[in-house]
Amino acid sequence: MVTLLSVFIFCYILHALGVTIGYHRLLSHRAFTAPKFVEYFWVLLGYLAFEGSPIWWATVHRAHHRHVDTDLDPHSPRYGLKNAHLGWLMHDNYPAHIDPDTQAKDLVKDPIYRFLELGGDWNKAHALTFAIGITFRLILLYFFGWQVALASALAGVAVLQIPLMLNVICHIPKLGYKNFATTDDSVNVWWVGILAMGEGWHNNHHAEPGSAQTGIKPWEFDLSWIIIRVMKRLGLADNVNKSKYGIM
Ligand SMILES: [Zn+2]
Ligand SMILES: [Zn+2]
Repeated sequence: MVTLLSVFIFCYILHALGVTIGYHRLLSHRAFTAPKFVEYFWVLLGYLAFEGSPIWWATVHRAHHRHVDTDLDPHSPRYGLKNAHLGWLMHDNYPAHIDPDTQAKDLVKDPIYRFLELGGDWNKAHALTFAIGITFRLILLYFFGWQVALASALAGVAVLQIPLMLNVICHIPKLGYKNFATTDDSVNVWWVGILAMGEGWHNNHHAEPGSAQTGIKPWEFDLSWIIIRVMKRLGLADNVNKSKYGIM
């Protein structure tokens, strides 16, 4: 049981950072630059948490910022909680206003990401993500036993909840607070900030989407930002966009 719990926590943090640093701040927002092997390292950790095609994830997320809390936003809770949480995932392909070829050109040219995208067929790409995620846990099962495999799988499923939870919780004004008077519904929610490695400071993020730093008040703990700063010191990240508000 101790093994199960400690491996779960270890894997949860790693996979969550894969989503926040890899999928979100690096791929979706280009909030810093990194050598390709560093990018692949974080993106792989996110992919193994069942996050899906990196091109799909980043393109949909960029559309969320572009159309935030309007009827073109892929997952605004203003238009239904069910759609904001899981409903939007159930489509077969991109709606007309979301197009990776024009909105994620930087990612489309990467052959690995293009392969994982499977021509933009959402169902096929999700199935591939699931198959690779399960295969990874079977390899863990073979080499390290059932506790490690199960803890890893559970951590992946738990991490998958991060962006889904964010889409809903952090866009319901009464559930959090704003540091910035943005025109959208985004709010900072402290417990999402902790569980989502800093992404719960979502109002800060919508105010400065290109910043690699989301926590800007002393209590807004942002583990992803700490790791990005360590990466910069080690020469594994560059051109890091810092919040212009710093610690307020
Ligand atoms: Zn948002
Ligand atoms: Zn974002």
